[in-house]
Amino acid sequence: MRNNRTTIYFKYGSMNSGKSLELIKVAFNYKENSIESLILKPRIDIRKPGFIFSRTGLELKANEFDIENSREIKDFLDKVDKKYSVILVEEANFLSPEIVDILVEYAYNNEVNTLMFFGLKNDFRGNLFEGSKRIIEIADKIEESTSICWCGKKARQNARVINNELIKSGPTVLIDNNQEVNYEVLCNYHFWESQLKPWDKNEI
Ligand SMILES: [Zn+2]
Repeated sequence: MRNNRTTIYFKYGSMNSGKSLELIKVAFNYKENSIESLILKPRIDIRKPGFIFSRTGLELKANEFDIENSREIKDFLDKVDKKYSVILVEEANFLSPEIVDILVEYAYNNEVNTLMFFGLKNDFRGNLFEGSKRIIEIADKIEESTSICWCGKKARQNARVINNELIKSGPTVLIDNNQEVNYEVLCNYHFWESQLKPWDKNEI
């Protein structure tokens, strides 16, 4: 049965802005009201497969799916219990536009009141992630959470730092084992100027 009661949210922010913690809190608040959320995340985070975890130490079990091929998420949604009225999606920036649309279609086609995407808005080049672009296009409500740049302003960019240099070209996803790759959140100005925290350079 189609329904027009679904509200689609995009809760975006820079890295370290507490998005995972917020997802866990939202799931907990629903649970306190006896509403189970369906928790989804792309299979991309190698740190702890099958879980969403926040830096505060809280964690939550999640259903993972492939982002290269939409078959897995389609099969999962075909079989999943239709009782869920809330769907929470972690790391949604990594979704393809096609998978975003699959989730939206599922929500409108079932009794889903809340479809909430959590993720980054911009990649390390300062461009919208493909998935985030699609979510912004279709969301009813868009909310930003921010962390702080070294200068004290709100951080809105996720700079890729390799060997202490800010890098603005390369593959979009590079979160694997390479220990030389780090990310630093910057305000728009310091990202524009490619200025990392000045005291980092002196440390090494
Ligand atoms: Zn700054």
